[in-house]
Parts: sequence; C-alpha cells; structure tokens
Amino acid sequence: AGFTVAIVGRPNVGKSTLFNRLLEQRKAIVDDFSGVTRDRQYGVAEWCGKTFNVIDTGGFVSRSEDVFEKEIRKQVLIALDEADVILFVCDTATGITTLDDEMADVLRRSPKPVLLVVNKVDNAARLLEANEFYALGFDKVFFVSSISGSGTGELLDEVVAQM
Ligand code: GDP
Ligand code: MG
Repeated sequence: AGFTVAIVGRPNVGKSTLFNRLLEQRKAIVDDFSGVTRDRQYGVAEWCGKTFNVIDTGGFVSRSEDVFEKEIRKQVLIALDEADVILFVCDTATGITTLDDEMADVLRRSPKPVLLVVNKVDNAARLLEANEFYALGFDKVFFVSSISGSGTGELLDEVVAQM
C-alpha cells in the first residue's frame, strides 16, 4: 500500500542509477541482490517529509527475444498496475531511439500521470541536446543527471505534488 512511483525505460538509460539516487536517504532498506534475476526492485524514498514506494522495473532484461515485447510491454504493465505515477526515463547521450518512440506511444495513453525524465544531462551542452525530448509529447519533462543528482530535486518536488 501507499503511494508508488514506477521507473520505466529501455535498457541502459539509467533507471537503476535513478532508483538508487531517489532512495539515497533510505538505502539501508533496499535489497541488494546483484546478479539475481528479478523482474522488479522495490524501495522506499522520502522527500519533504513524505514517504513513497519506488519500483525499478528494469531487472528482467532479455536481449535474446524481442526487446519491446519482452521488456517494455512488461515494464509498462507493471507500472500501470502498481504505480500512481510513472517515470519514463530516456537518455540524452543516445538521443531518442525507436524503442523510446514505441514506449512513448504506449505511455501517452496511460491513465496514470507520466513524468518524462531525460537522464544523463551532466552538463550545459547535454541540456541543449536534451530539448529534442520535448518531441515525445509529454507535458512534464525533467532534465536530470542521476549520477550527480542534478535536477532530481525538481523531479521529487513534482512526485510529492502528485501525492
Ligand atoms: P538501466 O539499465 O536503465 O537500469 O541503466 P543503469 O542505471 O544500469 O545505467 C546504465 C549506464 O548509464 C551505467 O553505466 C550508468 O553509470 C550510466 N548512467 C546512469 N545515469 C547517468 C548519468 O546521469 N550520467 C551519465 N553520464 N551516465 C549515467
Ligand atoms: Mg537497471
């Protein structure tokens, strides 16, 4: 129970790095099963005195079969089923890929709020490039660097505002 945020996105965009960043204050209660295949990871985050669950949906990467069918569809189903807010993570280092476009097509029809998180915005040059992600058609776009934590405060402010 409780307010739940799900992190979705194609492999390597930085979902798990963002997950760990959001759980920074509460890391002690996060399971650490490195190398163990699980289809999602749960944690609890706290921001502005409010506590909420976070799900990293990316733990089941299966590159041997159709990536969209096996990974993306499942991530989105988990998110739509369990989450109150969905964080759709993209990667400004690679730009918009076909898989991003396919996920965006599904997520734009989500009845739950979707926040577009453009990750790996590590510097000013990356911020300029990151503007291309407005083309995916989401109202709420956040530019973050999960590695440094830059921009994640604004993202957390919006998550808490949705509670
Ligand atoms: P996932 O597959 O979506 O869970 O992605 P990971 O969290 O495993 O990250 C994939 C790679 O991107 C790793 O090498 C991370 O260190 C790197 N990464 C994640 N966030 C950032 C970021 O904000 N900036 C940069 N430069 N690299 C990042
Ligand atoms: Mg991951």
